[in-house]
Amino acid sequence: MTPYLLYSDGNGNIYEDTSLYAIGRMGWDAMPVDEEDWIELPDGGSLYELPERRGIGIDVKTGEMRLCEKGWAVAAFIPPAHTGLYMAAFEALPEAQTLPLFCYTAVGWYNEKFYVTAVRIERDIRQEAKGYNEDKIKLGVEHMLEAYPHNRLVEHLANNCALTYHCPAARNYFIGRWECPIPISPACNANCIGCISFQPQEETIYSAQDRLTFKPTAAEVVEYTVPHLETAPYPIVSFGQGCEGEPLLMWETIREAIIEIRKHTQKGSININTNGSKPDAVEELMKAGLNSIRVSLNSVRPEIYTKYYLPNNYKFEDIRESARIVRQYGGWASINYFVFPGMTDSVAEYEALREFIKYTDISMIQWRNFNIDPDWYLGRLGVTDTGECLGVRQLMDLIHEEFPHIKFGYYNPSIERMRNYDTDFAH
Ligand code: SF4
Repeated sequence: MTPYLLYSDGNGNIYEDTSLYAIGRMGWDAMPVDEEDWIELPDGGSLYELPERRGIGIDVKTGEMRLCEKGWAVAAFIPPAHTGLYMAAFEALPEAQTLPLFCYTAVGWYNEKFYVTAVRIERDIRQEAKGYNEDKIKLGVEHMLEAYPHNRLVEHLANNCALTYHCPAARNYFIGRWECPIPISPACNANCIGCISFQPQEETIYSAQDRLTFKPTAAEVVEYTVPHLETAPYPIVSFGQGCEGEPLLMWETIREAIIEIRKHTQKGSININTNGSKPDAVEELMKAGLNSIRVSLNSVRPEIYTKYYLPNNYKFEDIRESARIVRQYGGWASINYFVFPGMTDSVAEYEALREFIKYTDISMIQWRNFNIDPDWYLGRLGVTDTGECLGVRQLMDLIHEEFPHIKFGYYNPSIERMRNYDTDFAH
């Protein structure tokens, strides 16, 4: 089964082109996709038309690769818990504008259904689209704003995160379950090209959400997180969210909050999502009672990492050290690995990943989709040739084979899951 290519008429209407088979993209190269790499578009996925871009497909009669001139290219935004194996294959016209910060996975049409090149990497259901009840969320928002009238963080999580940005973690907090977000830092010590909370004026794209504008106190953090840890199923509270800068810049406040939280409850897990830039601070947080860390990175090759993160006063080795320190203290260390087909699965990256794993002893790889315009990303990094590639699925298989203890997923695990990763998730 090979799906047909999709195109849009530029007015949001999408059609299949039965003269062309859909294919995928890795790095700068378009290529056919194996049958096993196509799955039905999961619930919660959506489709994008890519203005001023022509889709590339394979002619069903000649087998030749050619452009679809009938309209604009189409890509899929696949929902959380799924990792894209190929990007959408397209050729941009010279006047094309940079695409916004979303992932652009290959998509096609077959047997009256949309198909995407992806794999379900995570069994946990915490961000399933059908799991969100709007009325319950609104009720939860009302209740928490009443319960914490002077808490700026709860106000931010309610009006910005849950009701405006529709952040899945904030919505879960107001439903009283699972992972609860703690945005804490208005500033950052990196300048990621694809930052989702801050984009420089001169850039043509926008950040998906605005950065926090105040410095929360430890008391504000403790006030709403202790009840969550005490009452929520599989509770996690997580510093470091998409609507802020780098949490480690506020490590003293985080340490104070962790110590205070643990005076009130031993339940659940305290996690930090971070760029990992300050290993000394991470060590202090582990001493205070931090349970897990998730270090975000586009690559484990220092040169590729540095060209994207554009770090201020820290270097790649620091983030590696942060992950290792957490493991040395018996904590759970994940990498939030931005998967970019053609770069992440290059042989050079694979070899670097093996070394990174051996050095840090990480517990988990969260195979996340990279939300970025592929042409813009490769252009800004000055990458003209990505080198030999393995394929994302084969990369996963090789890592699993060599390091079977490393868990694959998409979300920060609860304490129950850290203790027994095969814990049942139908909660
Ligand atoms: S580390 Fe996070 S907040 Fe900082 S620039 Fe990068 S994406 Fe933005």
